[in-house]
Amino acid sequence: MVAVSDSAMTSPFKLLVLPGDGIGPQILSETLRVVEWFSGYLGVDFQIHQDLVGGASIDAHGVPISDATVDLALQSNAVLFGAVGGPKWDDLARSDRPEMGILRLRQALDLYANLRPAVCFPELAGASSLRPEIIDSTDILIVRESTAGVYFGTPRGIETDSNGFRRAIDTQAYNEAEISRACRCAFEIARQRKNKVCSVDKANVMETGVLWRRVANEVGREYPDVELSHMYADNCAMQLLRAPRQFDVIVTDNLFGDILSDEAAALCGSLGLLPSATLNRVDPHLPGKALYEPIHGSAPDISDVTMANPIATILSFGMCLNYSMNKPEATGLLNRAVARALAKGLRTADIASGADEPVSGVAMTDEILSGLDELAGQMREAN
Ligand code: NAD
Repeated sequence: MVAVSDSAMTSPFKLLVLPGDGIGPQILSETLRVVEWFSGYLGVDFQIHQDLVGGASIDAHGVPISDATVDLALQSNAVLFGAVGGPKWDDLARSDRPEMGILRLRQALDLYANLRPAVCFPELAGASSLRPEIIDSTDILIVRESTAGVYFGTPRGIETDSNGFRRAIDTQAYNEAEISRACRCAFEIARQRKNKVCSVDKANVMETGVLWRRVANEVGREYPDVELSHMYADNCAMQLLRAPRQFDVIVTDNLFGDILSDEAAALCGSLGLLPSATLNRVDPHLPGKALYEPIHGSAPDISDVTMANPIATILSFGMCLNYSMNKPEATGLLNRAVARALAKGLRTADIASGADEPVSGVAMTDEILSGLDELAGQMREAN
């Protein structure tokens, strides 16, 4: 590792680590090895505080996240989150379930812009369900609005109607401020990429879709250098399968973003590869609150957690290096170390195919760390 002298140390970076349930603690413990490496490399004093969330917090405190943990998140520079949930807590009422931990955090920190990159590693083009020539070089960033929409709208619930039938209600509601800040975030990011935004809605059948499209157009007029297009969500789901390379930045609401980003993830080979960042600001590089997490869940079907793929969580920390620490070159270094491990043929079970002998998440992290050593050494020699 290339260490910097103590005199180069910067002010402490407060990182709240919430491993959660299932494979969460394992993939976070692998990721913390990478955090430690970057602490030495960048000379950053990471002040790490670990706490409970999800089912682990329900077992200990009776709630999916405690007020004290939310306070800690508010005082931290960033939150690194594993995953929550599992069969043990599946029968709880929705408001008491582990998943409410993350929803509560998003609301408390006003984390409205969920950034989900879907990048296809060339080494894994063969693991995609699409032909390599279709998926190759896909590089999409989905901006999903994440504090409003149908997951939060009221009224909601299950009631009995006048005929004695059970009737369920969810409410999809958006105001223009909620739409415009998510769209503005997408335009800002597009300016750092290929200057293309595709806004996705169901304006043909939903009032929220009509307003979404109007507001996207209004915001788009402030960014004349960025090309804006619109697409219905069902067409977008199809176009992602047909020609994913046509997209640069996609901006959409909470529900469509949830579904389309999982689809984009599957195109890239595995849920175990894809990171995310959720921010409370339009320009990702400005200071503010942030939560970094893999897009997958707690994978309760994996009985030996050491076999879980840690890459999505490690790359989530990579997004933290970029957006919360303004160290894009460190993010690039980490991305190259991950690509190098994949190029060397290491495959966890979720991305293994044919004759591949799956390795553990621990071995994958070992290889990423030795790649970081090697790449940093090469950079030192080149300078
Ligand atoms: P999941 O993402 O946990 O698993 C889907 C499939 O992908 C499983 O076969 C799993 O083994 C595999 N997988 C996921 N991550 C992997 C990894 N890192 N390495 C290897 N394989 C991996 O989704 P699910 O099965 O629908 O949900 C399981 C639990 O997770 C549920 O309780 C759900 O509510 C919860 N969940 C939590 C979050 C979150 O914490 N943000 C997100 C989604 C689901």
